[in-house]
Amino acid sequence: MTTTTKEGSAVVQARRVLVLNSGSSSVKYQLLDMNDRSRLAIGLVERIGEETSRLLHTPLAGGDAETRERTGRIADHAAALKAAAEELAADGLGLDSPELAAIGHRVVHGGLRFTEPTVITDEVLTEIERLVPVAPLHNPANITGIRTAQALRPDLPQVAVFDTAFHTTMPEYAARYAIDVETADAHRIRRYGFHGTSHAYVSRKAAELLGRAPEEVNVIVLHLGNGASASAVAAGRCVETSMGLTPLEGLVMGTRSGDIDPAVTFHLKRVAGMSTDEIDVLLNKKSGLVGLCGDNDMREIRRRIDEGDERAALAFDIYVHRLKKYIGAYSAVLGRVDAVVFTAGVGENSAPVREAAIAGLEELGLVVDAGLNAVRSGEPRLISPNYARVAVAVVPTDEELEIADQTFALVGQAEPAGQQVPVGQVDN
Ligand code: ADP
Repeated sequence: MTTTTKEGSAVVQARRVLVLNSGSSSVKYQLLDMNDRSRLAIGLVERIGEETSRLLHTPLAGGDAETRERTGRIADHAAALKAAAEELAADGLGLDSPELAAIGHRVVHGGLRFTEPTVITDEVLTEIERLVPVAPLHNPANITGIRTAQALRPDLPQVAVFDTAFHTTMPEYAARYAIDVETADAHRIRRYGFHGTSHAYVSRKAAELLGRAPEEVNVIVLHLGNGASASAVAAGRCVETSMGLTPLEGLVMGTRSGDIDPAVTFHLKRVAGMSTDEIDVLLNKKSGLVGLCGDNDMREIRRRIDEGDERAALAFDIYVHRLKKYIGAYSAVLGRVDAVVFTAGVGENSAPVREAAIAGLEELGLVVDAGLNAVRSGEPRLISPNYARVAVAVVPTDEELEIADQTFALVGQAEPAGQQVPVGQVDN
């Protein structure tokens, strides 16, 4: 968007935000126009470093959203971001555009220090690096993404939006494990929680759906993707969440066990002779739904159940039983619950999971209307009947929009100063 000054130069209002979510072998990106918070383009580079790397890029500005694909080895994150930048440039959305206001990065672990989105300085980056021991799988990839983006646009504000930030309001008695305090503190062992961007967004949207302010409602958010976590949000602030020091704790997930007796790990080491790394892989990658029945996609599990597969049925029951326990526990933590909200891949799409998780909880005021539950929609919606004491809702999550909003709120305030460039150099 441009306006023209008296001197005839155009003031480019920098109102685009690039959101980057850098994983160990993938980069997901979205370019948003913050005038109307619409997507201009979305993309994904996966299997970075392998021969079978793939980039999928979808421009969304023009109407016909046709995905372009590139295949073949993309060596590293720098090459991935360069390839994404080329695709964006081909749509007239190059990262050199003065309309780009900032790059917002999803950063998984912000420890206790980062309670808010933060403009990335050298000192901030050093601090994110210091957190690598508590997030060895995630923070290194996030750091690589940040460094790569900085090299591409050193002049541009880069903002870190932390998965842990929303949970930093948890009271000490919820965040501490009941282990020796000195040992815990020496190694920063405590419950941090993850998926915070989603829990923040969804709990706010749920309040909106109820026609109330976030400060007026208590909600239980069930983020059920491949990773899954629950949170209890009282008056807009997180007071409890199911993931802990790492994303392994809590609900049954696609490939993670969630809660187990920690002594299982000693047993695996002493009796089964497994190494620490093998146990790590077992609990993070070979457990949960995949460990129980060989599939982690809820669609496939439901299909198998329909065919009478008993292992799939047991996996489903274990998954739902854990969910139910958390709904009960968080109802007790909150005292009064206004809504239970389902989100992410399973939560948004699996009517059987929602139905089974809420079944039998009438005493807690929770009921699901079968007709409403069966409706497929991308919109926030209630699935409880009018008479229900507690609302049950489905609210599609949008972590990228939340990251863009938080990033823009931090750096977009200098407006309307914008960036002055002579007319003719304006990139639309
Ligand atoms: P993540 O972001 O953690 O990778 P998502 O939130 O995208 O995960 O959720 C992915 C999961 O959602 C899949 O593994 C699958 O189990 C589930 N899922 C996606 N679509 C459906 C659907 N239509 N019905 C049931 N489950 C679905």
